[in-house]
Amino acid sequence: MISNEELLQDLQVHQIELEMQNEELRAAHSALEESRTRYLSLYEFAPVGYLTLSREALIIEINLTGATLLGMERHQLINHHFSTLVASKDSDRWHLFLQHLLNNNNEHDFELELYRGDHSPFDAQLNCRLNTNNNQSPTIGVTLTDITQRKRIELVLHIISSAFEAHGPMVICNADKIILQANKSFIEATGYAPDEIIGKHIRILKSNYHDEAFYTDLWQTVNQTGTWQGEVWDKHKSGEVNPKLLTISAVKNSINVTTHYVGSFIDIADQKLAEEKIKHLAFYDSLTQLPNRCLLQERLKYSIDMAQRENKPLALLMLDLDRFKAVNDSLGHMAGDELLQQVAARMTARLRNVDMVSRLGGDEFIVLLDDIAHPDDAARVAEEIISDLSKSFNLSQSDDVRIGASIGISLYPQHGSSPETLLDHADAALYQAKDLGRGCFSYFSEVLTRAAQERIALEVRLRRAIEQEELLMLYQPQIDIKTGQIIGAEAFVYWQDLLGGLIPPLGFIPIAEESHLIVEIGEWVLRETCNQAKQWLDCGLLPITMAVNVSPHQFRRSDISALVENILQETGLPAGLLELEITESGLMENSDLALDILNNLRHQGIRLAIDDFGKGYSSLARLKYFPVDVLKIDKSFIEKIPFNKDDMEIASTIVAMAHNLGFKVLAEGVETREQLDFLREKGCDAYQGYIKNRPLSASDFAELLAKEQALKNAEP
Ligand code: C2E
Ligand code: MG
Ligand code: MG
Repeated sequence: MISNEELLQDLQVHQIELEMQNEELRAAHSALEESRTRYLSLYEFAPVGYLTLSREALIIEINLTGATLLGMERHQLINHHFSTLVASKDSDRWHLFLQHLLNNNNEHDFELELYRGDHSPFDAQLNCRLNTNNNQSPTIGVTLTDITQRKRIELVLHIISSAFEAHGPMVICNADKIILQANKSFIEATGYAPDEIIGKHIRILKSNYHDEAFYTDLWQTVNQTGTWQGEVWDKHKSGEVNPKLLTISAVKNSINVTTHYVGSFIDIADQKLAEEKIKHLAFYDSLTQLPNRCLLQERLKYSIDMAQRENKPLALLMLDLDRFKAVNDSLGHMAGDELLQQVAARMTARLRNVDMVSRLGGDEFIVLLDDIAHPDDAARVAEEIISDLSKSFNLSQSDDVRIGASIGISLYPQHGSSPETLLDHADAALYQAKDLGRGCFSYFSEVLTRAAQERIALEVRLRRAIEQEELLMLYQPQIDIKTGQIIGAEAFVYWQDLLGGLIPPLGFIPIAEESHLIVEIGEWVLRETCNQAKQWLDCGLLPITMAVNVSPHQFRRSDISALVENILQETGLPAGLLELEITESGLMENSDLALDILNNLRHQGIRLAIDDFGKGYSSLARLKYFPVDVLKIDKSFIEKIPFNKDDMEIASTIVAMAHNLGFKVLAEGVETREQLDFLREKGCDAYQGYIKNRPLSASDFAELLAKEQALKNAEP
């Protein structure tokens, strides 16, 4: 039997146990409560929305964040159809997605546009999971995130990356200049594949074109100013070096530390090529590809500086082709051009690389000899060039063309120390070389300068002489070799200079030709002579021809036929009494034009004579096409009769051939009986010369003519 005491004790123990159990239960309960509250607040205030949807997409449950995101009260949303919140553009996709989820029992992400309670749209991301709980109908657990912000950033990034690709060549490097990204254009322009270039240092593109200082300077500028722009020659993968216009910008973070560099460039190879071409046009002669005057002047300046510094002489050779005009005029400009090109090639081949050949235009060339050891070296080179150029040229039209060259030389420092004086003095020396008879060279000297100065002074005086009527005409009789009668007069212009006395034509006609004064003088001469001839007629003298010299220059440049026509009309002299004397070279220089002019003159009834025949570029064969009356054998052939057999042979051949072509022949400069007898024997038609008369004044001539005509009349 259990005593009461024992029972009580038992009960007390139980009670204590129960109380202890109770206490545990209470503690467990409060812990549960606490965790539930924690869970609830987690659930309600989580940064994403939680929804539970029925399989028909009715909202069964939604947390506070979810309701806030959707902009509605929770009670409005419960039992609301989620599909009504989906933007209509995404509605079809949403239904397909839902179907797929239910069928495949999967967890899926889905992005779509949703409407809030106030109908404003926002971009949302859903993470959906199918809950299949025992036998209950499945539900869908959804987490809902607002991704409007992310979408906007994605869009901006997309735009930026499209722009990056659409832009010309562009590259992004980190602060260590390692390439992070390069667009397609950049890849194409540099020739590297993306994996060959991404991760590499930007110096992979560097060529040896620039020195280290260039790059140091470049990066210093980028880092200091944030940007650099300029021309850079980079190396293509193939090794080719190309010019680019490069812009580099530094990208800085919020505390102004450079984090990246962005480089972009445009290819300027074509532009460079065009610049080169323009430069070439500006500095090179397009026909011969030789440097032109501009480049010569630059180079000459530089060479003089160098010569000065190193105390060395240099030489300037000015070259002019002999007989080039005759070739140009007889064979045409194409042949002339071809000849100039061959001349350029021959000269270039002859010279050292350091020497410069340039063309000043026309048939004038300049050779700059840098660094010569002795002034005589220049003469040696000049001799070689002259000899090279005197050899026959082979042109497409004619395979044996011969010209020559004259060269004037000036030396630094003897003859000047500026480009201008050296050029001027070489020019003066060239003038002298031509005077010496062409095909030779001449150095500049003080004597030459003086001569040049005198020429200029003479030109000034001559100009005044025309205005002050200091010119006068002298006349030399032309005589029929058979009858001995005066048949004509050749008129020579003299200058009665107050300082220099009576100056013969050769003392001023060449200067008049150079300075174009000849046109004015020629006009005066024609008017004066025609007037004179008409006066003689009017005095009752029998008609004779008046032979007037016309210079080639005057013949070419002025409208000679119109002038003659006017003067004949003015003076009333019959055209048939006027004979114009033109030298062969005057005709050959532009033979087509000359032929036109001659035909026109011939039409007017004027007689034509070829003066100084045999002296120049003689070609009887070509003369036959010209309407010529008289051929005048140059006095140099007559001079040596009877001592020079060759000249005599030539003189008699000229007479025979001229007759064959239907021309009369007149010998000029006849001084001796032997000469006259020889010419008479060879059938020459007429002569003039000191044997009969020196040139006479108009009154002396008239007196002589009157006397002779009276004598003739007195003959039985
Ligand atoms: P040209 O027409 O061939 O004239 C012949 C030259 O020989 C003239 O020299 C004449 O005086 C000279 N002469 C005449 N007979 C003899 C002689 O027996 N022996 C020698 N040794 N010489 C003789 P000039 O007067 O000094 O004329 C030289 C050249 O000047 C002329 O050569 C002609 O080309 C040119 N000239 C003369 N007058 C005029 C003119 O009015 N207009 C133009 N454009 N030229 C002229
Ligand atoms: Mg003459
Ligand atoms: Mg003559």
